[in-house]
Amino acid sequence: MTVLRDSFQRRINYLRISVTDRCNLRCIYCMPPEGIPLMPHSEILSYEEISLVLRVGAKLGINKIRLTGGEPLVRVGVPRLVRMLSQIKGIDEVSLTTNGTLLKRYALELKQAGLSRINISLDTLKGDRFRRITRFGELGDVLFGIEAARGAGLRPVKINMVVMRGINDDEVQDFAKMTYEEGWHVRFIELMPFADVAELVPSSEVRQRIMSFGKLEPCSPVTGNGPAVYYRLPGAEGTMGFISPVTEPFCSNCNRMRLTSNGRLCPCLLSEDYVDLKEVLRGSASPQELERLILKAIASKPERHHLADGIVSIKQNMSQIGG
Ligand code: SAM
Ligand code: SF4
Repeated sequence: MTVLRDSFQRRINYLRISVTDRCNLRCIYCMPPEGIPLMPHSEILSYEEISLVLRVGAKLGINKIRLTGGEPLVRVGVPRLVRMLSQIKGIDEVSLTTNGTLLKRYALELKQAGLSRINISLDTLKGDRFRRITRFGELGDVLFGIEAARGAGLRPVKINMVVMRGINDDEVQDFAKMTYEEGWHVRFIELMPFADVAELVPSSEVRQRIMSFGKLEPCSPVTGNGPAVYYRLPGAEGTMGFISPVTEPFCSNCNRMRLTSNGRLCPCLLSEDYVDLKEVLRGSASPQELERLILKAIASKPERHHLADGIVSIKQNMSQIGG
């Protein structure tokens, strides 16, 4: 298999693909209440265009992908895209990150289309708080979605919780308990400062709070390509991962690139740089030209971001870049 490396000799084998900039929620740390100015549909890559990019990427060494957004499941026909992408030679894993609200409807179809795994974002187990954080979501929809995913055999389901001081940090132990009671695989994520909503809670503090509840045993990830560091409470079926982009940055092991819904290939979530693939895709794109552009984007991948120094160098938010 081809091994693709960037200028810092990091292996690049993972592409996160944003399939839409639209979302049916407005999480306070991700979007303003009125939402973001939406791209015209004509700007958004078709499923055929995404497949073409991935066919070239797979030949270069990309073997794992994750569909994200905006909310990927608001785009019509995502199971069809999953089927197309999972059949590309060289692609070993197609996963999805979702807010879970539409999973009850789509979980089985996604599994049957070839989806390997799913991550569901959920920041609270309290209904009124869920409505405040997402601005109008219903907690029950996500809980049904989690059950639907498990029932469809999309296991392990990972639950992503962004921990915010004074907003939901009093629930970290409740989420830890779910690793016992429900076998959830919970990942605690440090808040990145795209919007001024709350103070982040460092992962070291979250671990400390959970340790007062039970001993944390280091363990290997159940599956995944990501930056989380994993632990388990003694006897729990589920695990806990800590993703700490601000206080414990993982840039030196970063293996990913991002494709936005309008065809920009971004080397880093926290950089404004990108290479535009859409024009070439809609012109007389040859696979050689696409390959040249993909390699150009990979070569421009920065060594690290500067979040720990309080520097956020982007004007877009997560829903636009594809979190
Ligand atoms: N709509 C889907 C969802 O919410 O899972 C996929 C897109 S969302 C942008 C992807 C992930 O980014 C979610 O887990 C969300 O919690 C996370 N996210 C968004 N803004 C964030 C921020 N400021 N800091 C940390 N994580 C953030
Ligand atoms: Fe939508 Fe996901 Fe952003 Fe929440 S985090 S507003 S669900 S894109």
